[in-house]
Amino acid sequence: MEFIDPELEEYVSRNTSPEPPLLKELSRDTNANILMPRMLSGHLQGRTLAMFSQMIAPRRILEIGTYTGYSAICLAEGLTTDGLLYTIDINEELENMVKTYFEKSEYASKLRPLIGDAKKIIPTIKEQFDLIFIDADKTNYSMYFDLVFDKLKPGGYIIADNILWSGKVLTDDPKDKDLQAIKAYNIKVREDQRVSCVVLPLRDGLSIARKL
Ligand code: SAH
Ligand code: CA
Repeated sequence: MEFIDPELEEYVSRNTSPEPPLLKELSRDTNANILMPRMLSGHLQGRTLAMFSQMIAPRRILEIGTYTGYSAICLAEGLTTDGLLYTIDINEELENMVKTYFEKSEYASKLRPLIGDAKKIIPTIKEQFDLIFIDADKTNYSMYFDLVFDKLKPGGYIIADNILWSGKVLTDDPKDKDLQAIKAYNIKVREDQRVSCVVLPLRDGLSIARKL
């Protein structure tokens, strides 16, 4: 589902900084060789994540759901000189591709790919984060929020992707577990008095929560 008119979408893209060459290559490679390439953030969302990261200038970023590494490289753009980005994915088949692109990236020394189940890996990371991007299995979004909350600095941000679930959040199919989980996540975040939040209708929807 497109949330805005395709012509307007094209105008938005045209007036946004172009995709850096490495990300263009990664996008092409993902589309040609990897299952479900629609999961990749892409031009507009990628530039938005990079811009947010540059606004925050984080020292530590945690990403849950690397896929082929596109959003990780975008988020790394705003890291401080001593910054690090940890990114977790359960799919070991993607590991080689992710590492190849990370090595080609100018942020190579700041990128730390981790393979395994995020639920198991998160508790082993002894860091305090300025920015956390949740973009893995939708049914666990609320669990990830709880699991990372104490690892988020006051004033830090949790951004979650696909929060409008192609607009299906307006419908109610009790059998659609992803949909139920996303709706529950949106309620959880808006009712949590420890954060302020905004839902941004960009691409498939971004939720941004700021820890007070
Ligand atoms: N952030 C990427 C897209 C992520 S797609 C981008 O914007 O380009 C979602 C990813 O979450 C998939 O690669 C999938 O393997 C991963 N994932 C699913 N369940 C997971 C889990 N339990 N732990 C870690 N990663 C998981
Ligand atoms: Ca996503």
